[in-house]
Amino acid sequence: MSNTGIIIIGAGQAGAMTAAQLRQLGETGRITLIGDEAHVPYERPPLSKDMLLQPAQTRCAIHPDDFYQQHDITLRLGVAVAEIDLQARTVTLADGEALPYTRLVLATGASARRLPMLDALGAGVHTLRTLDDAAALQGVLQAGRRLILVGAGVIGLELASTAVDLGLRVAVVESAELPMMRATPRLLAEFLCATHRERGVALYMRSSVVAAARTATGLALTLSDGTCLEGDAVVYGIGVVPNTGLAQAAGLAVDNGILTDAQCRTSHPDVYAVGDVAACQAAPGLPPVRRETWENANWQAELAARDILGLPLAQNIVPWYWTDQCGLNIQLAGDMSADRWIVRGALGAGPCLLLGLSGAELVAAITVNQGREMRGAKELIARRACIEPAVLADTQQSLRNLSRALPA
Ligand code: FAD
Ligand code: NDP
Repeated sequence: MSNTGIIIIGAGQAGAMTAAQLRQLGETGRITLIGDEAHVPYERPPLSKDMLLQPAQTRCAIHPDDFYQQHDITLRLGVAVAEIDLQARTVTLADGEALPYTRLVLATGASARRLPMLDALGAGVHTLRTLDDAAALQGVLQAGRRLILVGAGVIGLELASTAVDLGLRVAVVESAELPMMRATPRLLAEFLCATHRERGVALYMRSSVVAAARTATGLALTLSDGTCLEGDAVVYGIGVVPNTGLAQAAGLAVDNGILTDAQCRTSHPDVYAVGDVAACQAAPGLPPVRRETWENANWQAELAARDILGLPLAQNIVPWYWTDQCGLNIQLAGDMSADRWIVRGALGAGPCLLLGLSGAELVAAITVNQGREMRGAKELIARRACIEPAVLADTQQSLRNLSRALPA
């Protein structure tokens, strides 16, 4: 095999971190990072938060601008990969240029799921996935305006919080019974619902948009119960679709994501997939899981880089993500479908910790403005610790100390 180098498709979180990890772990050959966006690789988490609240003070680049040059990573930005030829080991760019590879990493991420009925309205309707989307929203989120958010997932709720902080009047439409139900337990979803309502957000649950029109004074959405909402702008966040088109066309195994094993290897031995686009089967027989978090993108970048370099990691991590809304930093780790939850402190009354049990085992934790407990919580979850509920509920016991007290 000639050493034509490693190509990474997708210059987002997972792609940029894979390139960095490869160099850090000792790869000396050619690394090419190809992205269809024109910007140097950037972090998406600030896009729904600080990038809208205080754009001038917010920097979201993943690495310093000279990082790629200093680490001899070739950046090809503003150009999409149009085709992969697994037999010939080449990728073809949209401008027709063909590039050979020895190993290929797919980090193509995901795109906002579209709602054609809203897209058909044209100007005034937005989604939020990219830096350009956030830049467009900066002009829209002006004090006094009326904003309608469709979807009360993480995008909907973080934007509701940001928009209220900026002085807008906000309505949220959600098809589920409660907001953020996909990734949080009911008691947290109920708390978030109440908190946003206290801040003046009109939340329409179990509702969907059945008609949309442009009026003389704005955009009007008719909901499934007949309610008519009028706004100056609409942003919708109704989930994402993994960008699997290239992989599928190339003949890789795909099923709601590019299928990989625990080391991010796809169905072809030269090709890896990482980040939002990867559906990882942690062990034979287990269902593939696709995670849409910043931490997962970074983790899988390291897994793939290590495997490429023959330094595989057998270790696993406790899944974790965070959300910032309504002045709360909420961090969530582990399995949110835990059987029951122990509340340490009280939701809505200062810092608080929720601990999720399945049977006697600790399987999940949520911190609300108490991030310092997260490390100990993750250690306990990783070991599926069995600790008396009364001890878990005791505010005098730090989780770090409980973790240290466990037998080795
Ligand atoms: P992406 O970041 O989507 O990058 C993929 C890149 O590949 C994109 O630039 C795409 O344009 C490019 N690409 C696709 N196809 C091609 C092609 N054919 N050729 C070239 N390039 C291509 N997670 C958290 O844990 N906490 C948060 O607070 C948080 N906040 C978020 C806020 C927002 C607004 C968004 C959108 C996401 C947030 N996330 C958060 C999720 C997190 O940002 C994602 O999980 C992460 O960005 C995934 O990284 P990725 O590299 O897999 O995909
Ligand atoms: P989510 O999947 O989190 O939430 C989408 C929500 O929209 C769900 O509650 C869904 O309900 C609801 N929904 C679906 N269709 C409709 C409809 N037609 N009308 C009304 N509601 C509907 O996706 P988001 O769009 O919020 O987020 C997109 C991506 O951005 C995700 O990858 C997410 O991880 C990432 N992100 C992460 C953040 C974080 O971690 N802090 C912050 C912001 C974004 P149902 O589930 O019942 O279909």
